[in-house]
Amino acid sequence: MTEIGSDDLVRFLQLYAQRIAEHKVELTDLDSQIGDADHGINMDRGFTAVSAKLPDLRESDLGTIAKTVGMTLISTVGGASGPLYGTFFLRMAGSLGDHRSVPPGELVAAVRAGLEGVKQRGKAVLDDKTMVDAMTPAVEALETGDVAGDLPGSLAAAAAAAAAGRDRITPLVARKGRASYLGERSANHQDPGATSTTILFEALRDAMTPTG
Ligand code: ADP
Ligand code: MG
Repeated sequence: MTEIGSDDLVRFLQLYAQRIAEHKVELTDLDSQIGDADHGINMDRGFTAVSAKLPDLRESDLGTIAKTVGMTLISTVGGASGPLYGTFFLRMAGSLGDHRSVPPGELVAAVRAGLEGVKQRGKAVLDDKTMVDAMTPAVEALETGDVAGDLPGSLAAAAAAAAAGRDRITPLVARKGRASYLGERSANHQDPGATSTTILFEALRDAMTPTG
């Protein structure tokens, strides 16, 4: 893929919404261990609302699509994850601007901007045991990968890096979000937000990889 267009972005969002619905119970179960048992419910509510708007966005520019996703998440999702993922997509929107297609390097710049927005908004740093621990290695994998020459390979590396980040922090004690209220008892539980972020990079990989 030499350019990523509005149809590609919409296809990714559709797939992510579908995967979130499929993983709703799993995400909520994870949150029941170290949070308040609503992460799957929150994400599914937000992406069901996003999904309903996607058919009308196919002809829109990339920034408008990402901005609509961000605003929809912020207005429909209660809990920490709504504003955080909302900020991720709003920052992506700012980076993508009013282009209808961009080279893969611009998508990488947009997810980097999204990650920086999440860190600014939530004040989480690496090892706080949050979605940042899955998002950071995924973005770094894209930045070091050959996205122009091998987009599928780079997206596969990013999804694997997100999953590795998700698993790496499972033994850690949470220092941000509701899980941090548990102190030591938050150790040895998989983080729900790092899990939904891994699903995001897996959906990006699968949506942008030609199936032949
Ligand atoms: P809430 O904790 O308000 O119920 P969710 O259950 O939807 O919200 O989301 C919980 C997830 O949000 C956590 O698993 C964690 O990954 C992420 N999270 C919580 N606080 C922060 C933060 N300050 N920065 C980044 N991510 C965070
Ligand atoms: Mg929760």
